[in-house]
Amino acid sequence: MTTNAYPNLLAPLDLGFTTLRNRVIMGSMHTGLEDRFYNYGKLAAFYRERARGGAGLIVTGGISPNRQGWLLPFGGTLNFLGDVPNHRKLTRAVHEEGGKIVLQILHAGRYGYQPFVVSASGIKSPISRFTPKPLTEAGIEDTIRAYARCAKLAKMAGYDGVEVMGSEGYLLNQFLCARTNKRTDAWGGSIENRMRLPVEVVRRIRAAAGPDFIIMYRHSVLDLVEGGNTWDEVVATARALEAAGVNLLNTGYGWHEARIPTIVTSVPRAAFADVAARLRKEVGIPVAASNRINMPAEAEQLLASGSADLVSMARPFLADPEFVNKAASGRVDEINTCIACNQACLDHTFQNKRASCLVNPRACHETELVVRKTVKPKRIAVVGAGPAGLSAATVAAERGHQVTLFDGLDRIGGQFNVAMRVPGKEEFAETIRYFGRRLELLGVQVRLNERVTREQLVAAGYDEVVVATGIVMRKPRIEGIDHPKVLSYLDVLRDRKPVGQKVAIIGAGGIGFDMGEFLVHDPAVPLPVPAAHWMAEWGVDPHVATPGGLAAPVPPQPPRQVWLLQRKTTRPGAGLGKTSGWVHRATLVRNGVTMMAGVQYDRIDDAGLHITVGGEQRLLDVDHVVICAGQESLAELMPAEGATGGPGFHKIGGAALAAELDAKRAIREGAELAARL
Ligand code: NAP
Ligand code: SF4
Repeated sequence: MTTNAYPNLLAPLDLGFTTLRNRVIMGSMHTGLEDRFYNYGKLAAFYRERARGGAGLIVTGGISPNRQGWLLPFGGTLNFLGDVPNHRKLTRAVHEEGGKIVLQILHAGRYGYQPFVVSASGIKSPISRFTPKPLTEAGIEDTIRAYARCAKLAKMAGYDGVEVMGSEGYLLNQFLCARTNKRTDAWGGSIENRMRLPVEVVRRIRAAAGPDFIIMYRHSVLDLVEGGNTWDEVVATARALEAAGVNLLNTGYGWHEARIPTIVTSVPRAAFADVAARLRKEVGIPVAASNRINMPAEAEQLLASGSADLVSMARPFLADPEFVNKAASGRVDEINTCIACNQACLDHTFQNKRASCLVNPRACHETELVVRKTVKPKRIAVVGAGPAGLSAATVAAERGHQVTLFDGLDRIGGQFNVAMRVPGKEEFAETIRYFGRRLELLGVQVRLNERVTREQLVAAGYDEVVVATGIVMRKPRIEGIDHPKVLSYLDVLRDRKPVGQKVAIIGAGGIGFDMGEFLVHDPAVPLPVPAAHWMAEWGVDPHVATPGGLAAPVPPQPPRQVWLLQRKTTRPGAGLGKTSGWVHRATLVRNGVTMMAGVQYDRIDDAGLHITVGGEQRLLDVDHVVICAGQESLAELMPAEGATGGPGFHKIGGAALAAELDAKRAIREGAELAARL
């Protein structure tokens, strides 16, 4: 079945010498597979699935044109003929599925985490411990040649073109902005001089690769750092790039060192699309909108309103390789939506681990996590309809097993129902919607409001029982823990019990931080937070009248005074995700939350919470104390160790290990177990 619900999204784009089958770019993502030649088979399988799923133009992860440009030691490089056969595996896979693919050329400049780093000037970045060497004039010429050689080799490898990475604060962006370019020669000073390297790189790529080769340029339209460019400079550069031979302009927002988030889940959907729309009016080539676009409706709206000619989505293709085909065939409710958590993709990349996806553990593991039809269908009971149970039930049913899913509550989703109530985490509702639809399509029998016992499961004669019963909240042993002032996080988030003006949160883990954000959210601001409000709060000037588009943040109006406490002496929030933890911390700081470490909880009484910190006794005269002190596994259904007979029992997710309760592990364990059953 096809649909005309997305006529703009699905319209081909004729570039003269080649045509893209639709307006969807799968944006560049560093998967970790591109850095080792022996992983190119896996990478080809990853791209093949995305091309088969309908992506119009796939952009590879960043590949360096030379050793100096490496992001990490021995990162993916294309600079000699011997590399070409590996890349052919990728281009062949995509072309066989009717897609097109461009190689992203990424020179990290001073963001490289390796000793050969170079930049416009010798200014160290806050995210690498290596100070860059300023490129000499000869070094600049070598760099330009490396780009041109890389593009030529890309053409030999069968790529349809290249994307030149010019945003997010990488080398070309470093030359383009006064923040990092302090040169006094012909490559620094005026914007004409600062744009010389990016423009020359494009000109020489065009000369090397010929006219029938896509050159897309990822242009930083909003640097979001001090010393970034103004709108006039952004536009002047875009026009010069067009004149030098660029066919498509992709847009980039924020340097990696920016203190304004650009992709985490609390960034409103399509927040930056207006900036792309302004650029589109200034140039004669197609412009792609990017960042936090994760569903076809927003993408279609951007194209229909003339904000952009194409839409670039990266992580949504980790979450669902079939994104485009599902949109085209009227199956939007089947899309596994990227919830912008970064937990399995960017957080992995920053830990030098292979990327995957929290909601789709097959991502980047296409040849390893294979879901095959079973030749011996079994009757399987899955107990618990949280992320682990949903994942196990759907994969088992996909394999052809007969699956019954039980949950004691009246709805599926488990802890995700709690998470989605946190401001900025509304996307979690999409995952519940996705799994709900999968259960329906796969014919899983869902039995809600039903608490089953082990005896019932055994008596029912199931072949296998998956125990995904999750967790129970930990109740810390503190004097007065049963005082009426004490609430659990479920009381507040799930049962919506009223909370007073002054609140202490016990436990500064992921849920403690979530609770902080929930409690300081101004009820006058609708959820999800509108983009204009979000920009004002973070200090973003979408008109880029100031360098980098920075404005003075508008102070929030928190409705409560909040203390966030932990016993450890480490910095609160130290265990949160690398790419999102700082956003949560900054949000709480801006809202005046007092974070305290090294706290001993003495007692709770009518006066409030009595604590000892640094040997000093204190009273927090709060109205409520909210407990977010972690969880303990709930796995009562598991038989005693050594018990024999009856179905095979398997525990996964929080039921298996509460200490690291996290949805990424839960969903992966569910899928891996079901793939084996
Ligand atoms: P958590 O991260 O393990 O944090 C539990 C907190 O409770 C810690 O601050 C701990 O600090 C405190 N605590 C533990 N035992 C205690 C006791 N007996 N008395 C008083 N305090 C105690 O657990 P969580 O916050 O429940 O989060 C669970 C998981 O959900 C996380 O690990 C994460 O994977 C996921 N999650 C992540 C996020 C996110 O990254 N944004 C958000 C929500 C959930 P002290 O021991 O120092 O007091
Ligand atoms: Fe999106 Fe999270 Fe998956 Fe990354 S891990 S692709 S952010 S859902």
